[in-house]
Amino acid sequence: MTEPNPSAPALRDCPEEQYRLLTENVKDFAIFLLDQDGKIATWNTGAERITGYQEAQAIGQPFALLFTPQDIVNGEPDKELSIAVEKGRSEDERWHVRKNGRQFWAMGVVTPLWDEGGRLRGYAKIMRDITDRKRAETDLAEANRRKDDFLAMLAHELRNPLAPILNGLQILRLEQAVSPGGQTAIGIIDRQAKHLTRLVDDLLDVSRITTGKVSLRRERVELRTAVNHAVETVRPLADARKHGLSVSLPTEAIWLEADLARLTQVLANLLNNAAKYTEPGGGIWLSAEREGSDVVIRVRDTGIGILPEMLHRIFDSFVQGDRSIDRAQGGLGVGLTLAKTLVEMHGGRIEAQSPGVGKGSEFVVRLPVVPEVKPLEAEAVETRQAARISPLRLLIVDDNQDTVESLAMLMRLNGHDVATADTGPAALEVVFADERDVVMLDIGLPSINGYEVARRIRAHAANPVLIAMTGYGQPEDRQKSKEAGFDYHLTKPVDPKRLQDLLSKIGERVHFGRTD
Ligand code: ADP
Repeated sequence: MTEPNPSAPALRDCPEEQYRLLTENVKDFAIFLLDQDGKIATWNTGAERITGYQEAQAIGQPFALLFTPQDIVNGEPDKELSIAVEKGRSEDERWHVRKNGRQFWAMGVVTPLWDEGGRLRGYAKIMRDITDRKRAETDLAEANRRKDDFLAMLAHELRNPLAPILNGLQILRLEQAVSPGGQTAIGIIDRQAKHLTRLVDDLLDVSRITTGKVSLRRERVELRTAVNHAVETVRPLADARKHGLSVSLPTEAIWLEADLARLTQVLANLLNNAAKYTEPGGGIWLSAEREGSDVVIRVRDTGIGILPEMLHRIFDSFVQGDRSIDRAQGGLGVGLTLAKTLVEMHGGRIEAQSPGVGKGSEFVVRLPVVPEVKPLEAEAVETRQAARISPLRLLIVDDNQDTVESLAMLMRLNGHDVATADTGPAALEVVFADERDVVMLDIGLPSINGYEVARRIRAHAANPVLIAMTGYGQPEDRQKSKEAGFDYHLTKPVDPKRLQDLLSKIGERVHFGRTD
């Protein structure tokens, strides 16, 4: 078949044969003509193969024959023809129907056919069956969605056991007679539990980012505050690795319209990476300077550097450089993804620079600066009152026994009177039988959930302060708990120190009627 036939006339001299050979031989594409009214006029081998209709079955039929019932109801076949007339062509991808009723995904082009007199004579349609590609894309998107769901669920579930671990640790710290070996063990558990909390938080954040659920709580923030908080977080690691860490900021205040926690997270991520990816005894510099209406923050290190081909990829999720290096401080490869998304949500840009492997790296963050200066707010952010403990009558409600027990122990050690409950109805019984100052409620309770418990308490009593303790901390979750009657919303794992500060604030109000 591949041998040329020397006795056959050249194809260019046989106009009738040209079209016949084309229709008979092209098998990958359906190529057919339609009359002016959309009825099938010619049919090639490819059309037979793709649709399952023989030539005799197809000729004279409306080409709507190949459309899904829904597309026919929506008038899609007619639309295709009128768009072709209007615009010179109509191109689309959609599900079509084979003779046996099964669907196939095809891309198609319809071209109007005009004769020399400018009259519309019909249409040519070329279609290609790309069902396999479509299925592969759909499977990939589905697998990706399932991966995101799994990560979100995993991060969420991993948070629950962290709360009792951190509480238990706090209890051990309050024990008087802990042996030196015990102290070392407490230190280890503390560091590892905090590391685990950071990883879980990153995982949760990245899955929120991929589902577009991260929002900023913006306020006027002085850059110095965010830098100080970030440096505080990374200082222990930098000291442990004997790095020199220097910070240089402009003397004048730089005000940003930013979410302080998220901005701190970005800077802490960059500093933390600088400390991780630099051999012990290295140097790390954070500097900031005004450039027009922006501030440019640079985090530079003398570390292992970044390969040129990696520079643009390191901001993608789960992308990591050399995985063989010491991963004692390892992350999940999402820190820079978070940093980039958060910087962009603040209207800024981030980029990485490195002269090469072993030559250090520099991350440059550019953020817009707020023009006017409000110096008084800076001090307001920094001033904090030392907490005093005023005993309270607490009710802790959670269906996780370890969480309830460890939190109850911790609260008793802090001098509070504690009752516990593991279901919504049990909680309501305690509240209605016994006056409680504060109810600390898990939201995800079986039978009636925390929102409903809060609603029922509020329907009868305005007194107890209601604190939601939940793994969900997005603005819409906070709004929901506010609507149910909660006064405060804490996300798990609840930081025992934060809880103590909150309870002493509530204690002052309950006992001394202070409001602040
Ligand atoms: P992780 O640190 O958890 O791996 P990141 O998203 O923070 O994830 O960083 C992604 C990758 O970028 C790292 O695995 C590392 O290879 C590279 N990287 C980040 N910061 C630096 C740095 N300061 N020096 C060298 N490489 C870095």
